[in-house]
Amino acid sequence: MNNKEAYNIKVVKFGGSSLASAEQFVKVANIIKADSARKFVVPSAPGKRFSGDTKVTDMLYECYNVSAAGGNIDEIFDKVCERYNLIISGLGIDFDLTDEYQHIKWAILHHAGRDYAASRGEYLNGMILAKYLGFDFIDPAPYIRFRDDGVFNAEITNSLLAEELKKHETGVIPGFYGSMPNGTIRTFSRGGSDITGSIVSRAVEADLYENWTDVNGFLMADPRIVDNPKGIEFITYRELRELSYMGAGVLHEDAIFPVRFAGIPINIRNTNDPSDPGTMIVSNTDVYDSESIITGIAGKKGFCVITIEKAMMNAEKGFGRKVLEAIEHENISFEHLPSGIDTMSVVLNRSEIAGCRERLVNRICNAVEPDAISIEEGLALVAVVGRGMVKAKGTAVRVFKAAAEAGINIRMIDQGSSELNIIIGVDESDFEKSMGAIYNEFVK
Ligand code: ASP
Repeated sequence: MNNKEAYNIKVVKFGGSSLASAEQFVKVANIIKADSARKFVVPSAPGKRFSGDTKVTDMLYECYNVSAAGGNIDEIFDKVCERYNLIISGLGIDFDLTDEYQHIKWAILHHAGRDYAASRGEYLNGMILAKYLGFDFIDPAPYIRFRDDGVFNAEITNSLLAEELKKHETGVIPGFYGSMPNGTIRTFSRGGSDITGSIVSRAVEADLYENWTDVNGFLMADPRIVDNPKGIEFITYRELRELSYMGAGVLHEDAIFPVRFAGIPINIRNTNDPSDPGTMIVSNTDVYDSESIITGIAGKKGFCVITIEKAMMNAEKGFGRKVLEAIEHENISFEHLPSGIDTMSVVLNRSEIAGCRERLVNRICNAVEPDAISIEEGLALVAVVGRGMVKAKGTAVRVFKAAAEAGINIRMIDQGSSELNIIIGVDESDFEKSMGAIYNEFVK
């Protein structure tokens, strides 16, 4: 489906920079009004208006911190109210949030909690947007539910929210939060309004989830590293998952699951450039496939590798389990597991082992009595992702050739069994050079 008439219901999520000021609100309203399928809107809290500005969510966290430390929040809380009042006056609407401000301030001072404080950014922005658009305001707290252990409860949420949203022709549902079984407010992790948009899309069985931000969708590589990278027109959920896991920003990682489950495509769009089609995220690209072998390159620094050597390791039953159990005991999750006949390597996030290095090594030594064990720091991972790799022969060779020609030593290789990605480990000092060399090999 490419023409907008083909869609009956679209859920539209707008990020913080899209709703940072009255001018941005006007752009958002124009986008919504331009297409009657845009029935359900999920706003973030006001973000930065210029570099150096502060996001409202950060100001609200500050309110919580100051209040929890017994300080006075008057000044910082007034700044929050001022942000909203500026939007209201800039839009020229007759709307007064004074009672809301008073209640929120009182609640923050009376221990309503960190998540409650942060969630009010979306709550207030949603109220203004609903008023401005003439849409119903729907507080997600009673419908978006978390379990006692803090994990999002997808199924209960879906039935409660679907039931509620049936009652509304159009609505604004603030992003980022829901509630715990005892009724207290709980937020998703930072950037979590993307998840709310995805949850709402599933609940209303939307035809499309539009996620409006301040860039024209996904780029094939990070523009801070690769000069002027090409945009990605179509990408599958699985490819996106690989890329965002490896650090490609724009969309919250967990936002993919609800819509993917329901088979709803996501369209990343730019509020400041609405005529650009952005990036379409779909389950299957057969209909619109392109020539390119790779879809994108992403990577991260900050990894380390534990290498465990033991003669005849391959014949020792339970060896891998014991190593992984030792890691689990330290409450660490591992990233990759490239292994040889008599060696096993575990790639971990360096920050995770910072406080327990010695203990972890001892634990592994006690568990499997290795001949040698070492931890190497300073590893960066680069993921080359593309559905086209399944068909194209020699992709790995081209990745290695590009690295070799740029004088880069590859310290680790891991090709996912899906043939959707090739991950290489390089020295952190070679990270940027590797990304550039691989991009040039495939794209230029
Ligand atoms: N306002 C929240 C944050 O800054 C959530 C979001 O914008 O998606 O993280």
